[in-house]
Amino acid sequence: MIIFSKALADRATVWSAIRANDQPCESLPPDLVRFSGESRPVVIWNLTRRCNLRCAHCYIDANNSDLSDELSLEEGVRLIDELASLPSPMLIFTGGEPLMSRNFWAYAFHAREVGLRCAISTNGTMITPEIAALLKESGIRYVGVSLDSSSPEINDSFRGIRGAHAKAIQGLINARDAGLKTGLRVTLTRDNWHDIPALLNLALDLKIPRFCLYHLVPTGRGKGIAERDVTAEQRRYVIRLLMEAAVELREKEIEILTTDSPIDGAFIVEMLRGDPERMEHVKRLLINAGGCSAGSKVANISPAGDVHPCQFMPQIVVGNVRERSFRDIWIDNPSQELLLIRNSRRYLKGRCSRCEHLELCGGCRQKAYYYRGDLFEEDPTCMLEDLLKTEHAR
Ligand code: SF4
Ligand code: SF4
Repeated sequence: MIIFSKALADRATVWSAIRANDQPCESLPPDLVRFSGESRPVVIWNLTRRCNLRCAHCYIDANNSDLSDELSLEEGVRLIDELASLPSPMLIFTGGEPLMSRNFWAYAFHAREVGLRCAISTNGTMITPEIAALLKESGIRYVGVSLDSSSPEINDSFRGIRGAHAKAIQGLINARDAGLKTGLRVTLTRDNWHDIPALLNLALDLKIPRFCLYHLVPTGRGKGIAERDVTAEQRRYVIRLLMEAAVELREKEIEILTTDSPIDGAFIVEMLRGDPERMEHVKRLLINAGGCSAGSKVANISPAGDVHPCQFMPQIVVGNVRERSFRDIWIDNPSQELLLIRNSRRYLKGRCSRCEHLELCGGCRQKAYYYRGDLFEEDPTCMLEDLLKTEHAR
């Protein structure tokens, strides 16, 4: 995750989190802990595969077919107790649609009881004013709502259900009005790259304090639309635009960030070559954030309790919380595979292995796996080589 507002406009809340190498995570601002020096992972838990939408890019391939393998309430509560005792800096409930999990409220209120901070990643369509009030009461720190177009027609055709756009926006408004911290999440594709300014304006108009751009990762149904990923030129256009927006909107209540591609950080550094002081500052910040977080700052747990190094790596299972404690899987006896991914920079190949930005980037390992069949190969979505050729030709 690259926090553009911090890198380019010194937003105070982010700054304190990034500097927080040695602060206990309890003292950090909510939902920023994953970018600190904190070594315990933020845990992303896919509670269920159930979902009321049918999004084309869904990485978990959500469907309502077989739910019998989901962790039981007892197993889920035990997991929360364990994460609270680690402690994990944050637990993110996601799905499918997490609000469709029969155990969601039991988990959210139990997490509050044991002092585990939680966020929710949702399609927003089920957040009525009553649900928003309950989310607030359950101590949820942050509500991220996904939307893929400013146009209701385009969004709904991508998300598979008519009316999803209006409901997601109403859900965001309800969450905001309940006093929850909210964010608008957009997955970048060839179908919406030109729509990013309109989506950013929408967040501003709605007074949503966070705008997060997700790069497409070809996992689950995302594989089926891999060819809809943006070109290098389109990606550079969007990232430049967000860089400018982070500076121009520094006085506004909005934080701009991107995720699922550490290359954005390397790109920002390249763009700052004319400003060595800012460039060094941003480099330090990005090195601290650490590039790809798979297997280190992020852990993923599937509905059935499988532990993955990242939510986009279903093919790699490093344990199951039904059989071993999370602590044993992640900290005490990590598998060889988990250690390899955690230390992936040592084993990288191709362009990534020789890159001067290796320390702050390293590429997205899952994209290397999908496009090159090797987790340690170069990330073919890197838009830097083209950029350097273009810049040098000038
Ligand atoms: S070559 Fe690899 S490490 Fe370098 S910027 Fe591109 S993706 Fe990142
Ligand atoms: S492999 Fe790394 S960069 Fe790619 S989505 Fe997972 S954590 Fe992010």
